[in-house]
Amino acid sequence: MTLLWLLACTAPKDKVANDPAKPAPVVSSDKYGATSDRDGFLSIPVTVDDGVGVFQVVVKPTGRGLVSTEYLYGPGETLVLDWEDWYDSSFSLTESFYAADIATTLNWPVRAEDGPLEPGEYTVVISTLDARGNYVGKSDVIVEVLTRAEPAPAAGTLRTVIAYANNVRDEPGVVEAVEGAVDYWVELYAAVGITLEPEYADIDVDEQLPDTYVGLDEVAAFHEAQDERTTLVVVGERIAEDRWLYGEAGGIPGPYTAGEASAVFVGWLANAGADAEFDDADVLLFGETLAHEVGHYLGLFHPVEDGWEYWDALDDTSDCSAMGRCESDLGANLMFPYPVCTGGSAATCLRQDELSGGQAGVVNRYVGVE
Ligand SMILES: [Zn+2]
Repeated sequence: MTLLWLLACTAPKDKVANDPAKPAPVVSSDKYGATSDRDGFLSIPVTVDDGVGVFQVVVKPTGRGLVSTEYLYGPGETLVLDWEDWYDSSFSLTESFYAADIATTLNWPVRAEDGPLEPGEYTVVISTLDARGNYVGKSDVIVEVLTRAEPAPAAGTLRTVIAYANNVRDEPGVVEAVEGAVDYWVELYAAVGITLEPEYADIDVDEQLPDTYVGLDEVAAFHEAQDERTTLVVVGERIAEDRWLYGEAGGIPGPYTAGEASAVFVGWLANAGADAEFDDADVLLFGETLAHEVGHYLGLFHPVEDGWEYWDALDDTSDCSAMGRCESDLGANLMFPYPVCTGGSAATCLRQDELSGGQAGVVNRYVGVE
């Protein structure tokens, strides 16, 4: 297996919130330690009761190894998902087939045709690997299984915390720009039936952020300290020293559990444009960045990658194969790989505010849309 992420992992601590005054959570969860067999496989049972609409399985290595999702079996041991069907495919369904050092995350079902879940016992098979992608037996992992009822259509809520890295709040105009961008993000998600509930906070990390998938201990700790599960967006100045990287998601999908990479990182400087100051058009583009990156976190791939040879697995987004055609078919799509602009400023960019019905379905099936 390839796409080996850098090694940076510590065992997460368990967190139990037991406040009798609170209503029962919409998402049920189970967390435990487990060990892969001598061949490096672990079968994880997922019990789907009546009314359960989606599940998410997150597995983290406790040591310096990698984990990957390989198979999903449905009730009656029917094979539902085989990593070999997707690993070398030109179409992307989930990143969980690519070995990762922090976590492998399977959120199921992804598309309408992958569901609905049938009551009964599902089994997710994951593998434990070394840094070169060789199977390693008897490896310890932490397993988290989350389930959520099928919500009424367009009734889901997504909690998100927008957390400022050190010194970012002191940058002139940045807080105002973030809040304006979030207002627009709320509208973009409302259009696909998701009520976004944003909160603002601070996180004690350097404003020069690493790549999201490298992870930060502070991100895991931030989640542990929350009363409720939430998605997390960290606003820094730059990501991985890249002046032009707008944002990056910690997985497609990302885990709805505490972890070092359980976040979307955005760099305010890239979003402010070449002059490093936010004008109204920059704020709109920033809002689309937030909605796009969290869209990845909720399970969306780009409808086409910008080499025009890889596509998402949805059948209602164009499988265009040349730049001009892709920009005309998909340039207004929120998940297009880059902003489509005629000049050097955000004011010349096409609004990217569209999601297809298939894309809307994917984000609504994310377990954290409660
Ligand atoms: Zn993207």
